[in-house]
Amino acid sequence: MSDTSENVQIVWFRRDLRLADQPALHAAAAAGPVVPVFVLDDERAGDRKLGGASRWYLHGSLESLGSSLARHRSRLILRKGDVVQELMAIARATGATRIHAIRHYEPWWREAESELGSEIELCLYDGNYLMPPGSVTTGSGDPYKIYTPFAKALAQELPARDVLEEPSLSLPDSWPDSDALDDWDLLPTKPDWAGGMRGFWAPGEAAAHETLAGFKDRVSDYEDDRNLPSIDGSSRLSPHLHLGEISPAQVWDALSRHSGKGADTFRGEVMWRDYTQNVIYQFPKYPESSYRDTFGSGFRWRDPKQTKGAAEDLEAWQKGMTGYPIVDAGMRQLWALGWMHNRVRMIAASFLIKHLLIDWRYGERWFWDTLVDADYANNGVNWQWVSGSGVDSNMFPRIMAPLTQSDKFDAADYIREWVPELKQLPDDEIHDPDDAKRGDYPAKRIGHKEARERALEAYHASKD
Ligand SMILES: Cc1cc2nc3c(=O)[nH]c(=O)nc-3n(C[C@H](O)[C@H](O)[C@H](O)COP(=O)(O)OP(=O)(O)OC[C@H]3O[C@@H](n4cnc5c(N)ncnc54)[C@H](O)[C@@H]3O)c2cc1C
Repeated sequence: MSDTSENVQIVWFRRDLRLADQPALHAAAAAGPVVPVFVLDDERAGDRKLGGASRWYLHGSLESLGSSLARHRSRLILRKGDVVQELMAIARATGATRIHAIRHYEPWWREAESELGSEIELCLYDGNYLMPPGSVTTGSGDPYKIYTPFAKALAQELPARDVLEEPSLSLPDSWPDSDALDDWDLLPTKPDWAGGMRGFWAPGEAAAHETLAGFKDRVSDYEDDRNLPSIDGSSRLSPHLHLGEISPAQVWDALSRHSGKGADTFRGEVMWRDYTQNVIYQFPKYPESSYRDTFGSGFRWRDPKQTKGAAEDLEAWQKGMTGYPIVDAGMRQLWALGWMHNRVRMIAASFLIKHLLIDWRYGERWFWDTLVDADYANNGVNWQWVSGSGVDSNMFPRIMAPLTQSDKFDAADYIREWVPELKQLPDDEIHDPDDAKRGDYPAKRIGHKEARERALEAYHASKD
């Protein structure tokens, strides 16, 4: 054990893998020599273990954080196992009596924080949201349930604080043992399905800031461009924000001098991220079941485990073989890049829920496994928003027409990129090709009109 007079401070990193604007690191650095730690705890989250795409992205992000710490002659200590036990073992080995961490709101993290807090002094900080979840309240002091009034109230509070610079770090006399990142097998090997993601994403804090800098030049066009899947109109900051390689306060600050509709709409999206966490704060199990009773076990979902044809429909959706080009383009983009355009996420989610009449939770789980930005709050809240089952949601009977959406949002080039079977078709045919022109591309699994009627019938039957 090292000399306790050294006053070693442990920083417990989770989804906050950055050095700048990291309040836990900042406070620890001011108090003594810092031991930065990341623990991979695959049991703690139960069946919410990180999905395949998230694991791939995490590898790059940890590698990058390790390199950034090495610039300070510091290290990132990696441990695998029960997070409380591992952190306590590191505390014993280093003589640290205090652990610093940014607060996280997923139920398994709240539980771990409470366990750890009973063993050692745990200093928790806010820093991954514009405002601490639950802190923006109505006149009667309750957290908001609906986005629009929430965002209005949140905007009044911003910016909530100044962003923090990267601190200088003092080093402990000795280092605890660390795993080697490569031994964690976060990267797929047999088969290696990450080829598309490697060329598309650059994980890490520096890359997050480069992405933001590139987007700043385009933010004035965001209002029009963000809905067009064929162009690069959104920021693509989502995995960077999800893993905390950049903080929302930094994003807000960088855009503080940008006015106009584009910047305002973008700020509204970043506030959606705060909103979804605000929902999880109030309803920790929200992504696990429908908030509204109508969509519970009584709803006439087509169950892939029981209903004839439903398992095949689910698989066709997952593989991008539904016969609806915009849906299939999105699902194939998701598989290849671990990311899907927001407008197409809405179309593809709506298609699964309403056209195929499959419980939104099957889709949520697929996204959880395949998105590099898979986020307990953002994913669960958005799925329930699309399905109409959520606390604030679209109405179920508002059924998106995928073919019309595809045409309206000019998705022809997007379809050409992701559904090469249809590459030769002209713009006016590619959204809804004639059967004779589909070639190897599959027929529609169900017609739009028929699907719409089936969905509405199921909905009304459950309401009655
Ligand atoms: C069914 C469905 C599932 C989704 N699952 C996730 C998920 O697991 N993780 C995730 O980060 N986003 C999710 N989203 C929200 C949104 O699609 C992505 O955040 C966005 O497409 C990411 O691309 P971007 O960074 O270019 O977004 P931009 O348009 O540039 O937005 C900037 C940032 O704002 C936040 N944001 C944007 N839209 C939303 C939204 N609707 N809800 C919450 N935050 C938002 C994200 O952090 C995003 O990076 C989901 C949306 C749908 C419809």
